[in-house]
Amino acid sequence: MKLVTKTARCKLQVDTEQAETLRETLRRFADACNDILCIAQENRTTNKVKLQHLCYRTIKEKYNLQANLIIRAIARVAEAARKKRKPSKPKKFKPPSMSLDQRTFSFNEKCWEVSISTVAGRLKLPLAIGNFQRELLIGQKPTSATLCYNRRTKAFSINIVVNREVPLPPQNGNVIGVDRGIYNLATTSNGLKFSGRQAMHVRKRYARLRQALQAKGTKGAKRLLQRLSGKERRFMADLNHRIAKAIVNSCTPGDVIVIEDLRYIWERIRVAKEQCLLRHSWAFGQLGRFIEYKATERGIAVVYVDPHHTSQRCPKCRFVSKGNRNGHIFRCASCGFRGHADLVAATNIRQAY
Ligand SMILES: [Zn+2]
Repeated sequence: MKLVTKTARCKLQVDTEQAETLRETLRRFADACNDILCIAQENRTTNKVKLQHLCYRTIKEKYNLQANLIIRAIARVAEAARKKRKPSKPKKFKPPSMSLDQRTFSFNEKCWEVSISTVAGRLKLPLAIGNFQRELLIGQKPTSATLCYNRRTKAFSINIVVNREVPLPPQNGNVIGVDRGIYNLATTSNGLKFSGRQAMHVRKRYARLRQALQAKGTKGAKRLLQRLSGKERRFMADLNHRIAKAIVNSCTPGDVIVIEDLRYIWERIRVAKEQCLLRHSWAFGQLGRFIEYKATERGIAVVYVDPHHTSQRCPKCRFVSKGNRNGHIFRCASCGFRGHADLVAATNIRQAY
């Protein structure tokens, strides 16, 4: 069996009074996060235990939040502070979301509702969900979730994290290697190729817009920036969905999809491309996750490999040399084998399985 983590995104039914309570709770949670961040920076620490000692009591008195909401706020700040390498401008926490755990949230399957700790005590809120979410939630005892507020639609939702055990698919079919890259977003050893040209074009356009807006620096520009980053994210997610779907649809149950472990993609792509890759790296990860998600649903296994020299090894005679690869062309210096560089990489990833 294999443990799969999924998120059930559920809309919440709230009346006007409950909405105000939730908004106030989210506001206080964000304010608490910002206070904790200040304390963390003053004391130069991202350690959760230390932070708890430093700020638990004052935050509790100031915001009157439930104990575990404060613990989650501390955890969130610690994690965010650790992720940010450069302690440049401190990022402000905003009210649209709040982390919940088993002490501040529970799910009742009988009446399809959740109970959430708020500044006005526990609130029981019915879920407005369809069959897809119900299926995810049936028989689950979720212990973590995120409460979200969409300022545009003024709607509340909760993202509930569920862990499901799914049977391991048999690995008795074809083996398909998938190479992810910048020029081709994906190339498979069974002959599929997804050009990255459109994505590159769109992302360059967004990058230029971003630069212009950042230079402007006005409030309106900032708001537009945020909208743009959402648009760009949705564009890439949509593209990744379509690629993942096409790849998984080209396989049959029992097949094995082999993907390169992302940690090793870095060593393959030249340093000059690093900036470009930075912008792309989350999209690589997302494509991998989408493929895994769709494949698991269809009984197709996904295996991660860490092949060295993926783009330098000859798939025919296994001779490894940097000189084998020249741009998009692969030409083996030993046996003379020729091929498209990305297809060769996909074949090598397949063979690494
Ligand atoms: Zn060769």
